[in-house]
Amino acid sequence: MPYSYTQISQYLTCPRRYRHRYLDGWREKDTRAAMLFGRAFESALAAFFRREDSAAVLFREWSACRGQDLQYSKGDTWDRMLQQGIQLLERFCQDGHVRIRQPQRNLQVKVTRSISPNNEFVAYIDAIGYLDGRRCLLEWKTTSSRYPEEPEGLLALDPQLVCYSWITGVAQVAQVVFVRKRLVEVQYLHTTITNEQRQEFGQLVEDTIRRIESAQFLPHSGIRFPQNPCSTCPYIGLCLGRRDLVDAALVRRPGAEDLGWLDELTY
Ligand code: SF4
Repeated sequence: MPYSYTQISQYLTCPRRYRHRYLDGWREKDTRAAMLFGRAFESALAAFFRREDSAAVLFREWSACRGQDLQYSKGDTWDRMLQQGIQLLERFCQDGHVRIRQPQRNLQVKVTRSISPNNEFVAYIDAIGYLDGRRCLLEWKTTSSRYPEEPEGLLALDPQLVCYSWITGVAQVAQVVFVRKRLVEVQYLHTTITNEQRQEFGQLVEDTIRRIESAQFLPHSGIRFPQNPCSTCPYIGLCLGRRDLVDAALVRRPGAEDLGWLDELTY
């Protein structure tokens, strides 16, 4: 059974959400413009490192989404996002902080780690390269607002970076954040993950998989101000029994209604 960071993170957010997604097969509809733009932008970045025309790749990939009924946020439009993407590529190129040797090998790097005889953990690292001359794991992010940088050291608590450090054993990690705002900005954030953090993450993975395989899917619901995870959860229609909300936000993978494999779990 392969596990990933997204699976562990979904379970820790709400076990019921994990069940909706991974056991019952409900997935969010791919209509969020920001998410699709992020994918198109990552393709353009890969083209940049392969010394291809990254702006042309961004235009091609983003154009593929143009006819779709996308959900834009905060006054975004297809044209505005394209323009911001091209400006971000230019800024990134001018900055020259990041270097990737052998991009065919060091972009979207698949790493696996055995958890037990039956389970393995799989991660795709965005890139392994150099930030200002320092070798590190790199993660790309596209966002419409800056990532916080205070208090100092905050980035070391990012669970996805801790996960990537745990699975590779590499302590140096970085996020390159492409901020789509009126004046675009690229943030270069670097941190070091300690050995203790890696060990704790390994324990967290083992503990979470144990709970998943014991079929513990009680909801961690949350509707108390100011943290309302249920109100932004795409699966809220399922939890409320509201067909209209389900139809608006989710699709179900064919065949997912067959939950027979659950019976094969050994406790
Ligand atoms: S709506 Fe709330 S209880 Fe239901 S899956 Fe989402 S977070 Fe969990």
